[in-house]
Amino acid sequence: MKIALITIGNELLSGFTVDTNAAWIGNQVIQSGGNIIWHQTIGDSLEEIHASLNQIPIGIKTIIITGGLGPTHDDVTAHALYEFADDTPVFDEDYWTFLQEKLSKRNLKLPEINRNQAMKPGNGKIIPNPMGSARGLHYCVNGQTIIALPGVPGEMKEMMTATILPWIKSQSSQRLIVKTIRTTGIMESGLAEKMGDIVNTIDKNIKIAFLPQFTGVDIRVSGTDKTVVDEKVNEINSHVSKYIYGQDKDRLEEIIGQMLKEKKLTLTTAESCTGGLVGHRLTNIPGSSEHYLGGIISYSNKVKENNLGVDKSTLEQFGAVSSETAKEMAENVRSKLNSDLGLSITGIAGPGGGTDEKPVGLTYIALADGKNTRVKEFRFLSDRMLNKNASAQTALNMVRLYLLNE
Ligand code: AMP
Ligand code: MG
Repeated sequence: MKIALITIGNELLSGFTVDTNAAWIGNQVIQSGGNIIWHQTIGDSLEEIHASLNQIPIGIKTIIITGGLGPTHDDVTAHALYEFADDTPVFDEDYWTFLQEKLSKRNLKLPEINRNQAMKPGNGKIIPNPMGSARGLHYCVNGQTIIALPGVPGEMKEMMTATILPWIKSQSSQRLIVKTIRTTGIMESGLAEKMGDIVNTIDKNIKIAFLPQFTGVDIRVSGTDKTVVDEKVNEINSHVSKYIYGQDKDRLEEIIGQMLKEKKLTLTTAESCTGGLVGHRLTNIPGSSEHYLGGIISYSNKVKENNLGVDKSTLEQFGAVSSETAKEMAENVRSKLNSDLGLSITGIAGPGGGTDEKPVGLTYIALADGKNTRVKEFRFLSDRMLNKNASAQTALNMVRLYLLNE
């Protein structure tokens, strides 16, 4: 089912608000068997809404609109649709009373300006909004179905989930199966090389997309035949399994948590340049206290020395960003906090602080298990946040590889 999407709002064009509705709707629609094949973002303007509706490519019979259904003067979507459908709206006395009562229960008075939200189409339908006051509109004009929803993401999602997505599902004969393979520790080109011919599929029933981010590359496999998609996913797995940490919405910290739990091992962290980011990610997973005991954010040399027990001479001779310091940090946090594994990170996040010998991005990550300590050097980039995120991801991946005996 081909669908057009129009997201409306001046704030979307000026960049004050990111158009998260489009991303969410695109994703959900695919899973329900539809496909957004045309999308426009336009301002809150009657002319633009008419122009956009008139530009929709022939063959698209379903149009979803979000935004501009609020009560203020800048919300003109309903008005534009009444015009487009040549409709005369009527005042919905029952809904107005309902809204008034709803607010009076909270000791609030409904402003008169909300009256336009109690209008309902003469020849269209209302889409209920269980969360807010702006109801959606449903019109059939010239063989096209037009669905208008409020812009507030929470309300839009509720209404899509309750009413629109089930309808799309019921209209779609072929559902697209989408599987995402999540990798880290290798660049997009490296993955493509290792996967060789399996990415150059000429099979029209299957699509493979690489979605790179600085913390890893997702490989998205999609097609209409579940068996073909599953076969392709297995084929990819067999070529690059070492780099795959999960599927679909899996998070690395979640996977590590499961692995630590299975092996009955505990972990502690000594973080310098990541400032607790690894601990934050690990503790985002409910139940993580079973395997993550805690950590020391040893950002300054003083804390590295006084609280973590890194040798003063190590810091003086090799510096805070060195494999020697990383090694001691991992070993000491492990023994001080009594865990099976100790993980440490020390690096130059930037933008300042780099030298020719130790440039911004230089990072050491160590993992100690009481018998051996692995230390690895990485050269990330010049951006502070990217370096922090890459360091945290790489550190977590080092734990994963250790637990896989890699
Ligand atoms: P509206 O329905 O146009 O009154 O929008 C209400 C709120 O939802 C505003 O705070 C908007 O910034 C937000 N909003 C509208 N459209 C979008 C969108 N496409 N993505 C994310 N937020 C949006
Ligand atoms: Mg708006």
